[in-house]
Amino acid sequence: MMNCYCGSGKPYEVCCQPYITGSMVAPTAEALMRSRYSAYVVADINYLMNSHHPSTRPTKERKSILRWTKSVQWIKLEVKNTIAGNINDPEGWVVFIAYLSDGGKIETIHENSRFVKENGKWYYISGEHQ
Ligand SMILES: [Zn+2]
Repeated sequence: MMNCYCGSGKPYEVCCQPYITGSMVAPTAEALMRSRYSAYVVADINYLMNSHHPSTRPTKERKSILRWTKSVQWIKLEVKNTIAGNINDPEGWVVFIAYLSDGGKIETIHENSRFVKENGKWYYISGEHQ
């Protein structure tokens, strides 16, 4: 079995895949964040949209996000810090660095992402670049 894209060290099949396919709900903000990174890797635009809170969901950018994530090579994810976002929290923050290669040029996305939980489901709200 393949190690998960998110760098957890667990197989993809028991890490991010169940969230992306919808067979399980991500229990924590960090789990959702990791699964969204993996969804970028596998270019699952439906999951990226559905896990993005409706109030900030970039519906109009759906096609351009899909085109962009398919055009880059995702290298790795490093989760740097997590604040709240546990099973009983209403919101949480995850600081991460994502590494990708765009036309052979290595780029990083260093972000503090905010997540909220509604009706038992975590959503990505927005991110601040660090
Ligand atoms: Zn994972």
